[in-house]
Formats: sequence, C-alpha cells, structure tokens
Amino acid sequence: MARKALKGIPVSAGIAIGKTYFLDMGGNTSTVRMDIDKGHIHEERNRLKKAFSLALTDLENIRKKIPPELKEQSTIIDSHIMILKDRKFQKSARDYIRSRMINAEWALEYAVSDIEEVFSRIEDEYIRERIQDVRLVADRVRKQLHGQPADKGSMTQRMILLASDLSPADTIELQLDKIMAFATMSGGKTSHAGIIARSLQIPAIVGVEGLSELQGGQFVILDGFNGKIIVDPEEDELSHYTELKYQFAEYQSLVNRNCYLPAETIDGYRIRVAANIELFEEVTAVLDRGGEGIGLYRTEYSYLNRENLPGEEELFEEYRDLASIAYPHKVVIRTLDLGADKIATQLGPFREANPALGLRAIRFCRKYPELFKTQLRAILRASAQGNVSIMFPMVSGLQELREVKKIYFSVRDELKAENIDYDPAMPMGIMIELPSAVLTSDLLAREVDFFSIGTNDLIQYSLGIDRTNKHVSYLYQPLHPAILRSIKMIIDAGHEAGIEVSLCGEVAADPYCVPILMGMKIDSISLNPQAIPGIKRIIRQTTMDECMELLKRVLESNDIQDSNRLVTEMIFTRFPEELMFYTSLVED
Ligand code: PEP
Ligand code: MG
Repeated sequence: MARKALKGIPVSAGIAIGKTYFLDMGGNTSTVRMDIDKGHIHEERNRLKKAFSLALTDLENIRKKIPPELKEQSTIIDSHIMILKDRKFQKSARDYIRSRMINAEWALEYAVSDIEEVFSRIEDEYIRERIQDVRLVADRVRKQLHGQPADKGSMTQRMILLASDLSPADTIELQLDKIMAFATMSGGKTSHAGIIARSLQIPAIVGVEGLSELQGGQFVILDGFNGKIIVDPEEDELSHYTELKYQFAEYQSLVNRNCYLPAETIDGYRIRVAANIELFEEVTAVLDRGGEGIGLYRTEYSYLNRENLPGEEELFEEYRDLASIAYPHKVVIRTLDLGADKIATQLGPFREANPALGLRAIRFCRKYPELFKTQLRAILRASAQGNVSIMFPMVSGLQELREVKKIYFSVRDELKAENIDYDPAMPMGIMIELPSAVLTSDLLAREVDFFSIGTNDLIQYSLGIDRTNKHVSYLYQPLHPAILRSIKMIIDAGHEAGIEVSLCGEVAADPYCVPILMGMKIDSISLNPQAIPGIKRIIRQTTMDECMELLKRVLESNDIQDSNRLVTEMIFTRFPEELMFYTSLVED
C-alpha cells in the first residue's frame, strides 16, 4: 500500500510506531466489512447469535438494578429489550451473513439499514424517531461482537487502536498492555478521551479525517505531538520518528529527575502544582512526578463500567485511602459530574437533546438526592483524615449553590447526630466553569473556601462550542479575550474575598498558557500527572516580571491571533527545547 498521511487533533504527546487495530465502538462508518469464506458462515452466524443474547442479558441486568427512584428509565430499557428479542431483526442480520458472505458486524449494518428504510417512510415524527432506539440496540450488539472478535484483526501484540469514538467509559477500559496509542474519528481538544490518554501516558489523536478508510493490521506512525498518522511510512520518516521517540523518552527522564523541586519562579513567586486524576490508581504516578496533592479527583469514573452503583462504604474506603496516601498534601474530591458524555449505564440510557446543557453534575445530583447523599457521606467520613476538600462542579449561581449547600449541611448534621467522625473545617469549594458563575464570582466567593477554574467547560460554554466536536475545534481558543477576561475576573474576585483560586482545566498543562496564569497570580494549578514535571520546570525558569509583562501585552492586544503570536514567541525564545514535546490548545 502507498504512503498516506492523515491529520487530526493532537491530544496526548508521544510517538507510537506499530500496527493498527480497528475497533468499532458503534459508529456506523467505522464498521469494517470483511468477506468470509463458506467454511466460516456457521461460525459467524453463531457469533452474531451469541452477541444478541449477551446484549440481552446485559440489558436485563441493568433493568434489575435500576433504583426505584429511576423507574421511568426502565420503560426505555423495556423497549430496547423488545427490539433485541425481535426475531425478524435477528434473522435478517443472520441471513445477510449467509447471502452476502460477510462478517457479522457488516450484516448487522445491513439489517439496521433495512429497518431505517422502513422507518423513514413513517409519517408520524415520534415513531419515525424511534429508529434511534434500534441504532442504540445495534450498538450494544456491536459491542458484544467486539468482545468476541473475529480472528482477523484481533489483538495479538501491542497495537495502535483506531475507533470512531471512545467514550470516557470506553477509554478507562483500554487494556494498556495491548494498546500503545489511539486515534479516533470524533472528539475535540478537551474531550475526556484525550484527558484520560494523557493520564495513561499514551499518545493520542482525535478528530482524524479519513480514519474510516484505514484498516486493521496496517503499519503506521502515530505522531501525538503534531496530530499525524502516517500509513506505510518511508524509510527516512521511520528513522526520524524513531529518533524523536527516543528523544522524548530522554526528555521525560530529564524533567522527571527534578520533579520534586518546587514550582517557584526565579524571583521567588511560588505556586502549588497538583494533579487531576480519574482513577484511584493514579495517585502513585502523581507522587512520583512531584505532584503536590490532588487538585481534582473526577469521582464519576468510579461509577462507570460496572454493574451496580458504588455504596457508601466502598466510596468511603476509596476516598480515605486516597487521602492517606497523599497526606500531608491536599486532596480535592469533586462531587459527581455525571451526565453529558459520562453516563453511568446502571441508571439506564439517558436521552437528552442537548446533554451538555442538560442533566449534568450537580443538576443530576439534585435530581437524584439519594445518590448524592451517599457520596457526600463518604466524602465527609474521609475528611476525618484532615487533608480532604470538597468541590461542587457546574455551579451556575448563588441560588443553586445555596441549595447544594443545604443538602451538604443536612448530611453533615446526620453524621453528627450519628456520632460519626468528620472534619468540621473541611474546605468547601466550587468549580467556576459557566459564564453565569464568572459574572457572579464576587458573590459566590463570599460563600465558599476556594474556587477552581474549569477552563475545559468554561471555554465550551463561553464560546458556545461543543468540546467534543472536531468541526468547531478550531474555535476552541483559550486566549480568546473573553476567556482571558473571565479567568482574570474569577482570580480577582477570589482574591478580593480572600480565598484561594486554582485552575484545573487542560489550560493548566499548556506551556503557552501557564505564564499568563502566573501573571494573573493564580494560587495553584492542577493538571494531568504526566505534564507536572515539565510545567514545573518551565515555571522554575521564568520570572514573575516577564509573566506580568506578557499578560499585559496579551490583554492589550485584544486579538486572538496577536495573543497567540505573543505567547508563542515568548515560549519559543525562552524554552525552545521544551516545546518540541508538547501539545498545546493554542493554535498559531
Ligand atoms: C473543566 O471543565 O475544566 C474540568 C476540569 O472538568 P471536566 O474536564 O471534568 O469537565
Ligand atoms: Mg468541567
């Protein structure tokens, strides 16, 4: 095959060289057609039958576990079960395997297309839209087919995973002993799949155009620095990238050597550099890389990919162990940010027209107070360790904050009445990630102990761009004057009220943005563990004076292109050797 290069959005640094494995997570376009010979028809039909039956068992188990308060969800599941049991649907897919001599995945596509065709002719819009349910059911069957993959393309060695999409739940399931990197068709600069890739330290690219044209088993180079996939590379490319991979490993060991030194500028301004984690197991990586505690624990990941919801005891033990390992550093436990792309399947399939604007984070928790209270009890009990803080995500304003605090204080009172130990002085903070919270940050600051700026969502909601959508990714600009003014406003409001202001969005791991944050006098930042040593190193080599000067010039420029040029120039002049190994949100 001839050399080919594809372009995407780089989201996790590094180089991988190896063979591809094409994983279909449900997107129509990425299902690979494979022709099979006569001798394999029976086997393939059985594979499909088994996938239907496993998907059915799966769904029945989910239905059993739906808590009584969520019973409305079970009607959706019932309808999906009915579709799965529909003999005509199954038969049609199985017949395609025989008549077209194709793999089960492709036969399923044919069967779904037939149903789509019938539905498209229905006049009633509501019924016509029910084709979505058939697609969701087909996705479930496809996932089961993936669990029992056909021989061709199955993973026998460490490979580069290609997929149409990876949800946060899919990403944490990746088998790292088998996967050296991944690339997806969908996704934007701060999609959760990319965030997890950085935590797992595997190179990754999202939003790759033309990925569906690739196949399993092809030899490629994946360049996680520049967002490139080179299929069947030339000899000189291979040696260039092999060398780059080696240099990156050297660079990482160099920066790691000094990772315990404090993040203090040459002129003595010090900030705390903590870590964002999704999984408990990451805590050792944080400490190994010089992280000063956990600035954001994304607790919702403990609710994904499991059959039942975690109970209070399990959560308490997890939080307590985390706090004791990180001690004396602080651990900020963020309450559940479920919803949008992070869906707990035990609660049934949630369908919302605009999930990012829907039942997410504390809105979700307020709708399901029992779920929320269980987590609050666990966090409060773990606070007895003395180094735990609690943080609420997606707060939109004062009224909402007060409602959440009411629930929190009622749980605290319950523990008190039960004589259960907790830290009465546990700091309570909120994430500032909605424009309404920015504009009322002066009011919010009086009611909490700290702020943490969530730029991933703040950029999404301020600039009106879906953070997971590659088509608007070019608009995802952290140095947009609206974003810079917002961040400054939050920091100033926090300081005015005498509270600490941290920043835990991906901007904190971006070498182009950190000097700007320093210039604004951020108190602490929290980022993926892998990036901590490099960012600390950059901070140690700057002065507060130059950061403030840069900030001044950027704020005066009022133009994204100018701002991007100013920061790029500064970083290129001051840290040329560092920059080779970074991906940035800033586009010059
Ligand atoms: C953010 O929005 O910046 C953030 C840190 O939270 P998450 O990425 O989990 O939404
Ligand atoms: Mg967020």
